[in-house]
Amino acid sequence: MTMNRRDFVKTTGAIAAVSAFGMPHIARAEGKKVVVVGGGTGGATAARYLKMADESIDVTIVEPNETYYTCYMSNEVIGGARKIESIRVGYDGLKAMGINLVFDKATAIDPEKKVVKTAGGQELAYDRAIVAPGISLLYDKIEGYSAEVAEKMPHAWKAGEQTKILRSQLEAMDDGGVVLIAAPPNPFRCPPGPYERASQIAMYLQESKPKSKVMILDSKQAFSKQGLFTQGWERLYGFGSDDSLIEWLPGPDSAVVSVDPENMSVETSFGDEVKAAVINVIPPQAAGQIALDAGLADDSGWCPVDKKTFESTLHKGIHVIGDACIATKMPKSGYSANSQAKVAAAAIIAMFKDEDPGIPAYVNTCYSIIGKDYGISVAAVYRLSEDGSTIAGVEGAGGLTPSDAPDFALKREVQYAYSWYNNIVADSFATS
Ligand code: FAD
Repeated sequence: MTMNRRDFVKTTGAIAAVSAFGMPHIARAEGKKVVVVGGGTGGATAARYLKMADESIDVTIVEPNETYYTCYMSNEVIGGARKIESIRVGYDGLKAMGINLVFDKATAIDPEKKVVKTAGGQELAYDRAIVAPGISLLYDKIEGYSAEVAEKMPHAWKAGEQTKILRSQLEAMDDGGVVLIAAPPNPFRCPPGPYERASQIAMYLQESKPKSKVMILDSKQAFSKQGLFTQGWERLYGFGSDDSLIEWLPGPDSAVVSVDPENMSVETSFGDEVKAAVINVIPPQAAGQIALDAGLADDSGWCPVDKKTFESTLHKGIHVIGDACIATKMPKSGYSANSQAKVAAAAIIAMFKDEDPGIPAYVNTCYSIIGKDYGISVAAVYRLSEDGSTIAGVEGAGGLTPSDAPDFALKREVQYAYSWYNNIVADSFATS
């Protein structure tokens, strides 16, 4: 059948009418390509929400590992309360949604040509990219520390092999040993994490090696949920007494500045040498290496973004979410990454349709399990400030576990933490 000019105009006119009134989203986003660098909590969530919002968008995740180990609940693996398999997640759920998975490492991002290059030689074109590579560990900020030394003095700040090393060192340690945790300066991934870890290790030592103790050498003078942590430590581990299972030494004097793996010792900024049986060095951090290499970070080592859309302020067309970005008041947490991913996905859909992304709200909760049946949490809802410069907490929304919370409430926080875990994994990775 041939089509004359009049028929053609009639047909295209009909399509334009449908586009304007009937199915504008589908018509606009059809065939658009989004490449997501990093299939962790932030990247997986963004990919899933883009695909759920509009299945015609071609979404590709570039991720080197075929399985992901959640850092959340990894402290329970270190303390022995759960097995490593319980924090392992695969990508089958995302694949089943039609998201493409490229198991490879992104090596470069060209913002002009709009292409992500991979170690395996692929060149993936995008209309918009999402970069969610998490953190890089700044080994060279601690003299003598390196990726190789981390096999003997693990950081366990990226879950998986490192988590297993730290767990097996604790199991092998003789009763009476000191477990040293070097806590990093701000900003860093999971502000309550080192203190939850100290608690989980103390719980294990109390049960299995009661003559041992945990010593935290901190770069900071204060830490997240400090009052609630120290209250719990007093109740459970004798904190503040001569036989406390946990000792906390604040910065700046106690910051670890160098390590000696042969001698199993560290040196503090005050010049003290401290020896220990197990040494967990959590170094200073910056945005994931690919974000640094792609010129997405500023002098702080983190990536500045438009807080309304998470689009980089340094390279248009690239959105940076999760630990790597500067999200002002939001902590670097899995829940923040998940929340930012949804904001970025909604903004990208709006931008594909030439619509305004609107004013987003964001959310975060961090649970910490500090003993058997003893959990605490902090929760916050955030809004973009009027001038768009800050993501600030909404007054009256969220809050902390009360310091006079009864036992049943502390026990319930542990159940909430487990249920939060199941929900965030399912929400991010489409596991159920
Ligand atoms: P990630 O989840 O780390 O994902 C980054 C991904 O990018 C990785 O899969 C990595 O392989 C990939 N990647 C890196 N470079 C490249 C590249 N060049 N090419 C392709 N892919 C690349 N958060 C909470 O909300 N609640 C908690 O209870 C909690 N507990 C924690 C406990 C510990 C001990 C730790 C260490 C962290 C905890 N967190 C918690 C923090 C949480 O794990 C992180 O904030 C979260 O994982 C950040 O998500 P992300 O997507 O930015 O980075």
